[in-house]
Amino acid sequence: MRYYPVFVDLDRAPVLVVGGQEAAAQKVRLLRKTRARIRVVADRPCEELHQQVMAGTIEHLALSFEPALVDGCRLVFAATGDRLQDAAVSFAARSRNIPVNVVDAPQMCSFTTPAIVDRDPVVVAIGTEGTAPVLARRIKAQLEALLPSRLGTLARIAGRLRDRASLLSGDGSLRRKVFERFFDSDIARNVLAGHSDTLEEPDLSSIDALAARSAEPGRVTLVGAGPGDPDLLTFKAMRALQEADVIVVDRLVPDAIIEVARRDARRIAVGKTPHAPSTRQEDINAILVREARAGHRVVRLKGGDPLIFGRAAEEIEALQAHGIEVSIIPGITSALAAAASAGALLTERDAARSLTILTGHASDGPAQHDWATLARPGQVHAIYMGMGAASSIERGLLDAGIDPATPVTIVERATLRDENIVQTRIDALARTATSGNVRGPAIILIGARALLARPAALPQLEAA
Ligand code: SAH
Repeated sequence: MRYYPVFVDLDRAPVLVVGGQEAAAQKVRLLRKTRARIRVVADRPCEELHQQVMAGTIEHLALSFEPALVDGCRLVFAATGDRLQDAAVSFAARSRNIPVNVVDAPQMCSFTTPAIVDRDPVVVAIGTEGTAPVLARRIKAQLEALLPSRLGTLARIAGRLRDRASLLSGDGSLRRKVFERFFDSDIARNVLAGHSDTLEEPDLSSIDALAARSAEPGRVTLVGAGPGDPDLLTFKAMRALQEADVIVVDRLVPDAIIEVARRDARRIAVGKTPHAPSTRQEDINAILVREARAGHRVVRLKGGDPLIFGRAAEEIEALQAHGIEVSIIPGITSALAAAASAGALLTERDAARSLTILTGHASDGPAQHDWATLARPGQVHAIYMGMGAASSIERGLLDAGIDPATPVTIVERATLRDENIVQTRIDALARTATSGNVRGPAIILIGARALLARPAALPQLEAA
């Protein structure tokens, strides 16, 4: 970011506006939402400004601009409509290190004014560093529609409850939980809906009730993060991430997904990467137990779906052994994402009557399967962790009599930006896997007709 966003306290602060026409009036309109002491320098102020001078809400100096006028100001605005005048104002302010904004002249500004969504005291500021004001206005329109109009009232009430909540003991995490609960509570819902007349004076004992509920024991939710594209998270997964105190996350899960989490949630990266330092499963289990026992809401975020090749059994059993509550939120498993990317039919009327999910990899090397059963026609297989075992899979199936022309689709890094789809046949699987074009993580789909995979990706059709 070139521009650093801040909110400036203008309570009783002197602010200078140079210029007396519409552009200046616009700045004054916004400034009057604050309690700034607004001074306008202009020969002849427009009607709107004149009215305000009469009403005593702004001060008018009928002078021509002089540099000394900016002395002591917290902010300066130049809106004279005259380049030279504006430049003089900008220069005067900048040489005194006073922040200055010049209407329609970003190169003369030391700060810009964002588009705002005003739910005072909740204010959303939107900036595009001058690249796209139209986009900023669209975002503003979307947020205006999204944010309840009584959000400000709710924030004000929460502010009052803070005093009460500050009496709660602990390291602040209980206080934070109380407010999490408060914003989910009926009190908050009624405020936002405008139903409650007691809004301005909410029952302070309600905060104690919320506190009692917040002192609940920790729990762990195994959450499926999907294949990598954040848009493929479920709403439920997103909510769990936003409510989490601690997120224990696999290294395979991209940052863009973790970004959805509450910003102050603690993140612990764990996981097994081939040929890299790994966290042992016992250690992961121990981390989960430790964090839940400390009273935290723990999200164990796993790639794809937690129950597919995710070592969920060990984690659930370890937690249950300590009496910790566990729940599971499913995710889109990578085989489904891979199939969608390639348009590969996982089942097809009469032609593909079953789908098998297999691992290519066992703890002691390439996994052995009942190849004779798997080689029969009319089936689709989705193989996880299969790239290192490609030759063993190819040999197993060919020896068991599978049609050598059975289509194979390899989808590497499904749904991620560098997704790669390779189409081949079962008798060229091993060669394709070792060609160096696919590094994984990848799903191997065997026997699925891929309707969307590009035919250009058919380099290895000849049998080895
Ligand atoms: N629980 C995960 C699977 C974990 S095992 C799920 O449901 O998807 C790890 C294997 O998943 C990898 O070796 C690879 O085969 C597959 N995988 C994970 N993410 C993938 C992705 N984005 N594209 C293709 N395969 C992926």
